[in-house]
Amino acid sequence: MKRVLVTGGAGFVGSHLCDRLIKNGVDVLCVDNFFTGNKANIAHLLGNPLFELKRHDVTFPLYVEVDKIYNLACPASPVHYQHDPVQTTKTSVHGAINMLGLAKRVKACILQASTSEVYGDPEVHPQPEDYSGRVNPIGIRSCYDEGKRLAETLMMDYHRQNQVDTRIARIFNTYGPRMLEDDGRVVSNFVVQALRGEPLTLYGEGSQTRSFCYVDDLVEGLIRLMNADDLHQPVNLGNPGEFTIKQLAEEVRRICGSDSELTYLPLPEDDPRQRKPDITTAQSVLGWIPKVPLAEGLERTVQYFRERVQNSS
Ligand code: NAD
Ligand code: UDP
Ligand code: UDP
Repeated sequence: MKRVLVTGGAGFVGSHLCDRLIKNGVDVLCVDNFFTGNKANIAHLLGNPLFELKRHDVTFPLYVEVDKIYNLACPASPVHYQHDPVQTTKTSVHGAINMLGLAKRVKACILQASTSEVYGDPEVHPQPEDYSGRVNPIGIRSCYDEGKRLAETLMMDYHRQNQVDTRIARIFNTYGPRMLEDDGRVVSNFVVQALRGEPLTLYGEGSQTRSFCYVDDLVEGLIRLMNADDLHQPVNLGNPGEFTIKQLAEEVRRICGSDSELTYLPLPEDDPRQRKPDITTAQSVLGWIPKVPLAEGLERTVQYFRERVQNSS
């Protein structure tokens, strides 16, 4: 039976990926240091004979026998990745080296979770994979952006130099159940604020745009990419539906039935002004296209947070 390693498997995306793999009958080894991961995300899998959990930090070597590796370990919210930026860079860079060394030794196929942040504050819109981006190397977001860029470099070099079978997913803003209440990212912030009747915190004027992908769609894309033949170039995975942050706030208020005010806070340094994936590659090569529209994905996310916010109040 094939064994699949998911690093960051107790996190938001990782736990949904573990669920889907196990549903498909795959033997899953979940590795996580629980920095932003949560045991509650995988508690339901603990008794399953297909599931194994190992507490481990990917910046240290890992000797296991697996056939496939999804390398998702890395905090993804600006609040969390900026908390200890040196550790963030180590996680992306040392983590990628260790997982690539492992993939090389056991001849496993490895997929790196990269990000739309490799495009920085883009002057090409929407962003195709051949746009090389506009990233500030010395700003407060650089530990994440440059760490992921270097992880991509390592993937390409291990492929060229050591013939490791690599995949790179450039993931655009993804949301859904199991984001942390205090995650800091915009969807969970707005939903929790709206449910608590607190003001929704818009950074800047709320005119910056993002394109939001529901987590089930992303997981489908990650699995298709892993299973594609000979696809070593990066592939964008995201929902091309583009919204301003103010539109998102209004949609969240509507779905929550909330009359929370909107409050405006300073725009963080280097916050990208616009972002929208060009998914031509994913569509043509993987036959993948996101299916869940924002309103529907938000409904499901609000339902999840409604139970949590009620339980904690
Ligand atoms: P998350 O913070 O919920 O999950 C990250 C997981 O990695 C957590 O469980 C955390 O404990 C674990 N982790 C962090 N550092 C680690 C280390 N050194 N060793 C072992 N485990 C470690 O974030 P997420 O949204 O689930 O993101 C998953 C991956 O997808 C990340 O690599 C992220 O950069 C990437 N990504 C996510 C998005 C998104 O919108 N969700 C967008 C682009 C890229
Ligand atoms: N590594 C690992 N697990 C393995 C094999 C390697 O964690 O099963 C790590 C190890 O720490 C090593 C890194 O991956 O430093 C890179 O491995 P590679 O073989 O590329 O380089 P080297 O061993 O020569 O440093
Ligand atoms: N944002 C916001 N209010 C919040 C959290 C985020 O207006 O409470 C903005 C943030 O400035 C950014 C966008 O929403 O422009 C998306 O932020 P997030 O941290 O979710 O993702 P990223 O900036 O990494 O795309």
